[in-house]
Amino acid sequence: MSDPILPGATLGVLGGGQLGRMFTMVARRMGYRVTVFAPDDDTPAGQIAFREVRAPYEDLDAVRAFAREVAVVTFEFENVPAATAAAAAEMAPVRPAGSLLHTTQQRRREKEALRAAGVPTVRFACAETAAQLETAITEVGTPAILKTIAWGYDGKGQRRVDRAEQAAAAWKELGEPPVVVEAVAAFEREISVVGARGLDGGMAIYEPIANHHADHILDLSVCPADLPPQVRDRAVDITRTLLAAWDVVGVLCVEMFLLGDGELLVNEVAPRPHNSGHLTIDAHTCSQFEQQVRAVCGLPLGSAVAISPAAMANLLGDLWQDGEPDWASACALPGIKLHLYGKAEARPGRKMGHLTALGTCGGAAAQTAAAAREALRRD
Ligand code: ADP
Ligand code: MG
Repeated sequence: MSDPILPGATLGVLGGGQLGRMFTMVARRMGYRVTVFAPDDDTPAGQIAFREVRAPYEDLDAVRAFAREVAVVTFEFENVPAATAAAAAEMAPVRPAGSLLHTTQQRRREKEALRAAGVPTVRFACAETAAQLETAITEVGTPAILKTIAWGYDGKGQRRVDRAEQAAAAWKELGEPPVVVEAVAAFEREISVVGARGLDGGMAIYEPIANHHADHILDLSVCPADLPPQVRDRAVDITRTLLAAWDVVGVLCVEMFLLGDGELLVNEVAPRPHNSGHLTIDAHTCSQFEQQVRAVCGLPLGSAVAISPAAMANLLGDLWQDGEPDWASACALPGIKLHLYGKAEARPGRKMGHLTALGTCGGAAAQTAAAAREALRRD
């Protein structure tokens, strides 16, 4: 195994969003320098980084020049083109590998890779033409969800179809792109498991997190998820299987549906720290971002043990509609930690920050997190 990359070295991050910001905060705490590569300036990550390189991801010469100056390249933005990761890899190790990015940034490849790893998913079929769509709907049945294979996030690029006759119109609304047609899972709960895998194959897996969505955007996460032991073990096991099968060096989050009979289906995966894992910053010995730093630097992973039950409430731009939120009121609640991402413009649905609440149990923490978010409202 190659020598670890030690504090003092410069780490490169592709992408300038909040995930890169929280990675950069940890890396700086640990004594690393960070260079962020992003198509904008004054990005959430760039504000914290030692250096910010502004260029489009398609500018491969700029990517090579950036990668030449850093000890390792990682990413926080999943939709970096494959050619960008490949250009970076000419100059520095890219962790996790660009091939993993390529797989997970497209729903069809992702689903097929999950299937190949022997992990259960919802029933699905892919379609690129009207005829294929018809066949896919017949295969999958209704209700179904059409999802564009590329560029989907926070529920964007999805249409639910309750009857087969609605499929063509739904597809048209999406702009008739290649789609994955998925059966609607009648899940009881949604959970995620965040895991990390080091260069030596060692793993650190957090306890499953329970997730609640509003308008298809993550709203509240609670850890521990309070699952029956065999479901918890199965969720962790699925995550281990994927980390190993895909030779991940870094962090992987696995989103799952828990069905009424205890069965788990993998919904989607992210090859990076995940919104649901933000509570690990305040509630765990070592956060998901520290695991990413350690993994990509070839250091031993840290402990994924929880210090306290916790809950995380997302702060979307909608909270700004009546002016600046009432930070003082939220901060007055005991056990609340405020995280803001440094974004200048608060648009509806935009992730601006989050609150983490610690509590005696997940339920208590969830109540405090929700109350603190309510306290932000001016009305
Ligand atoms: P995104 O990339 O937007 O997070 P997801 O595939 O995770 O896309 O979908 C967002 C949310 O929509 C999920 O967390 C879940 O609540 C719901 N959803 C997605 N796919 C299905 C499905 N097949 N059955 C039931 N609900 C689904
Ligand atoms: Mg999702």
